[in-house]
Amino acid sequence: MTPIFEFLLVFSAIGCGWLLGRYASGGLPFSEGHAQAYRQYYSGLNFLLNDKPDEAIDAFTRSLPVTPETFETHLALGNMLRTKGAVEQAIHIHQNLLARPDLPPARLQQAHLELARDFIRAGLYDRAESLLLELVQQSEELRPVCLRHLVEIYQAEREWGKAIEAGSKLLPRRNIFLSAPYPDPTLEQALAHYHCELAQTAAERGEFDEARREVKNALRRDKNSVRASLLQGEIEYRAGNYQRAIDALMRVREQQPAMVPELLPLLRDCFDATGKRPKLRQLLEECLEQAPASRLVVAIAEEITLQESSEAALEFLTAQVRLRPTLRSLLAATRCYRETRADVPAGPVAVLQTALEKLVASKATYRCTSCGFSGRQLHWLCPRCKSWNTVQPILGVEGD
Ligand SMILES: [Zn+2]
Repeated sequence: MTPIFEFLLVFSAIGCGWLLGRYASGGLPFSEGHAQAYRQYYSGLNFLLNDKPDEAIDAFTRSLPVTPETFETHLALGNMLRTKGAVEQAIHIHQNLLARPDLPPARLQQAHLELARDFIRAGLYDRAESLLLELVQQSEELRPVCLRHLVEIYQAEREWGKAIEAGSKLLPRRNIFLSAPYPDPTLEQALAHYHCELAQTAAERGEFDEARREVKNALRRDKNSVRASLLQGEIEYRAGNYQRAIDALMRVREQQPAMVPELLPLLRDCFDATGKRPKLRQLLEECLEQAPASRLVVAIAEEITLQESSEAALEFLTAQVRLRPTLRSLLAATRCYRETRADVPAGPVAVLQTALEKLVASKATYRCTSCGFSGRQLHWLCPRCKSWNTVQPILGVEGD
């Protein structure tokens, strides 16, 4: 539907609203006042047809006074304008509604909510926040939706403590000893990430006890939080508790096996620090069996090279490429082949390696399952659709 057609539809609705408003007021339909309003309505239509939406909106709102009967029409116009990105005009329409204090309180509250949404859309978070905080106090009915918008604002402003406070009010208290179902898993997951943000900040300041508390809170909100396990691993590693770090990281195997490759650098450091590096290979092999991934194949090949030889690693890689061909495994196999055959002229294998390197470097490694956003970096919050936990490693020939 073209924007002009949508505008026409809404203004037709305004025309209907205008007639309703006029007849409901009990006056004669064609008095001098009505004739003037008619003129304003048609001049608005003229502005619209001449592609002047600002003037059109002005003329239409002047032709249709705000009354309980026309309230919904004004509200719909404002909302449509916001959806189309005309936020300034939407604010104008909604503020115009609030200039009528004789409207019923429920209607005024609805207009307040829409104005707060306009402010959010315009990035005027402070103004939206104060409107929403008032509404939370005033309207039991609008309280949940206002709290959700407050969570949205605090998340955008990275005010994690406030986001947790507002979000918690939307969730009933759960007895952690009973395995009651999560009433709103998406919100619980978001709250878990807010706790992770706090844990990360505390860990960066070296406040490990505070960081541990926040990780625990995150896991209480979402027991499958991979980010919380990874953070706990980092905190314990930095605190010198290497085995505890490994235990925390290994929780990811149960939480989300496809995310195990994310642990690889820290796992290597932990196994090196405990002097148990030879045991890493077996662990990775178990993980590979549980959830195949190219990064695990490459990591195991590195361990084989360290413990045995490049020849043995090449044998492993060749078998893996046959079993589950992926660009990354093939590249690792090609590199390994050249290392083990240093005496043989590189020739076509070198060309193949260069081509594979370019191919692998050009492929995205993560994709959002919600909006399709893709890139080469793991985001806990999708930068495009702002969903938590939806960016996942890409699997298959071109991926992991
Ligand atoms: Zn997304």
